[in-house]
Amino acid sequence: MKNVILLAPPAAGKGTIANDLKNLGYIQISIGDTLRRLAKEDKALGEAMQTGGLVDDKIIFKALNNKLDEIGNKPYILDGFPRNIEQAKMYNELLEKEKKDLGVVIYLDVDKEVLLKRATSRVVCLNCGRSYSLIKDELKPNEEGICDDCNTNLIKRKDDTEEVFESRYNTFIEKTFPLIKYYEEQNNLYRITELEESKILEEVKRIIGF
Ligand code: ADP
Repeated sequence: MKNVILLAPPAAGKGTIANDLKNLGYIQISIGDTLRRLAKEDKALGEAMQTGGLVDDKIIFKALNNKLDEIGNKPYILDGFPRNIEQAKMYNELLEKEKKDLGVVIYLDVDKEVLLKRATSRVVCLNCGRSYSLIKDELKPNEEGICDDCNTNLIKRKDDTEEVFESRYNTFIEKTFPLIKYYEEQNNLYRITELEESKILEEVKRIIGF
């Protein structure tokens, strides 16, 4: 099974896809979820995340390495990493050292207006990372405010406000968007553009060969 990198602007649905792919045997590595858990104890980290900018690469590498050690040789989906060219280069070095393949990079191309609406209407589970919508019937939790999968209380992320979304989107354009060209040049990039939400998973499965 090929490892997958999901590259996308904020609230494009990386987490939802990663969660769906778990049923195929993938491990989801969400650096954002890991950081949100760490931020419960680390006020400075929480504040840094709320600016909508990127967290220091050193913290990210540490979180990633811990997670990779933990999962061993199982196939995984990286959701939220890499987010800038430095992280991508560091990841390539790591793969070379371990003689592992990069796998595929999937770019979800979604309109800014759609993203803003999703970000401001979502609630998430900090325990398992699943996200829900407060306005889309098919994405609402069965019981209001409770995660269907693990019974944990759902929360609204502090960075899912219109203002912070704007800043996260700008960070994406400035820092993460250049990775599309970077991976295109390495012939690893697959682009999914504005498909109906229900078709995205099918398209991802086709790309990874399921
Ligand atoms: P979304 O997918 O909605 O953009 P995430 O949950 O992936 O949000 O990330 C939330 C925040 O965590 C980001 O805005 C950023 O501050 C921080 N973060 C997550 N991943 C990284 C990363 N690879 N490098 C730096 N900061 C990160």
